[in-house]
Amino acid sequence: MIPVTGYAGRKVAVLGLGRSGLATARALVAGGAEALVWDDSPEARARAEAEGFVCHDLSRAGAFAEVALLVTSPGIAHLYPAPHKLIARALDAGVPVDNDIGLFFRSFATNAWDDFETTPRVICVTGSNGKSTTTALIHHILSEDGRPCQMAGNIGRGVLDLDPAEDGEVVVLELSSYQTELARALTPDIAVFTNLSPDHLDRHNGMGGYFAAKRRLFAEGGPDRAVVGVDEPEGRFLANQLAEGPQDDRVIRISSGSKLEEFGWSVFARKGFLSEWRRGKQVASIDLRAIAGLPGAHNHQNACAAYAACRSLGLGPKQIEAALHSFAGLPHRSQLVAERAGVRFVNDSKATNVDSAAKALQAFPAIRWIAGGMGKEGGIAGLLPFVGSVKKAYLIGHSARDFALELGDLPHEICETMQRAVVRAAEQAEAGEVVLLAPAAASFDQYPNFEKRGEDFAACVQALATP
Ligand code: ADP
Repeated sequence: MIPVTGYAGRKVAVLGLGRSGLATARALVAGGAEALVWDDSPEARARAEAEGFVCHDLSRAGAFAEVALLVTSPGIAHLYPAPHKLIARALDAGVPVDNDIGLFFRSFATNAWDDFETTPRVICVTGSNGKSTTTALIHHILSEDGRPCQMAGNIGRGVLDLDPAEDGEVVVLELSSYQTELARALTPDIAVFTNLSPDHLDRHNGMGGYFAAKRRLFAEGGPDRAVVGVDEPEGRFLANQLAEGPQDDRVIRISSGSKLEEFGWSVFARKGFLSEWRRGKQVASIDLRAIAGLPGAHNHQNACAAYAACRSLGLGPKQIEAALHSFAGLPHRSQLVAERAGVRFVNDSKATNVDSAAKALQAFPAIRWIAGGMGKEGGIAGLLPFVGSVKKAYLIGHSARDFALELGDLPHEICETMQRAVVRAAEQAEAGEVVLLAPAAASFDQYPNFEKRGEDFAACVQALATP
């Protein structure tokens, strides 16, 4: 745990008692603060009370008197579409609002670091897609290199739950736009921006607000090195604003698809090869095509981002290449779950929106596509340009009939359940094809979350009769 500094003897309100909220409350208490915890859900409050916290109803008149700070969870709106009612109270009472990320950055460095040979460093990864994969990949490469490292943030461990840093430690944090927007301190040593596509627009009052939230990661703390995906205009703008000029190598530009040979430092992937260029010369190249854990151009973009971050820490291209080969991939993101009679079964249950499903559909040459669930606004019309490799779609869940209408002439069948979809796709697939779960829909009609949907897919594959 990282005890929170700066609030000893003061009252700090914590709103939202999920994983990161509880970790925050513990870290505040460890730093000597008095934590006033609250959650709108009685179950969450009961969990906190079972741990010994006393819940304070922050909706009571005067509840924010003498409160130095309100810490909230990423799922709770603080401005748009409208501030949560308790956050609105804090705003009225003149109380600043922060999150666990802000507290982490003000508390992470300690006096113990004075005796360290190598100062610990923090790498933060943001972007619309590929954050988790890039974060896990950086962590994997550093671990393979024998460096002390830990990862946290949006990827599943609260940042204040991390262990205090060892000499030379590297902490890798995955940060969502909700997190970067709110943190009052945001000072990574290396900041990574993967890409940008529309998402969470209601929480940021539109695309401008969404980009501005991500941009704070680079603007607030002035990282020593910025790794910036330049495949969208926002990324190009960000890179140019941060650099003194195209040759300034404090910015490493990355791309999936574009040659970037004219810059001080760049890493890009084209046709399955990663290239690193410095001052007009190629300095390294890696064949990504044989790397099973990173299929598709979208994962090659993630590989470029992770490669660039690790190069800025001084790792060599060969060390990084070896580690890319041993990266198993993350569950539910282009995850190979089985191969039977030449047919691969790939679980991309995390492809819950059109953009990520489009990337998955472009990653394989011949696809039996399992799709559907709780459809999103706009349906799947945006996917039609990317169905060229799809032999047939097997539609499940609530959106099955709507998706069928949108697919028109593309061969499809309505299967309703995952089990039937897997059985039908497996019966019809030929050697060399991929049975791909890339739902382009949320999971909540049939499952509690995308992880359970992916696990069900894997279980249905395991249950198939021997070919
Ligand atoms: P995030 O943490 O940003 O949601 P993940 O690594 O969990 O990103 O991947 C989320 C979804 O997006 C998965 O379906 C994955 O296959 C897809 N994806 C991964 N990397 C990228 C990328 N660079 N561009 C677009 N889609 C991606």
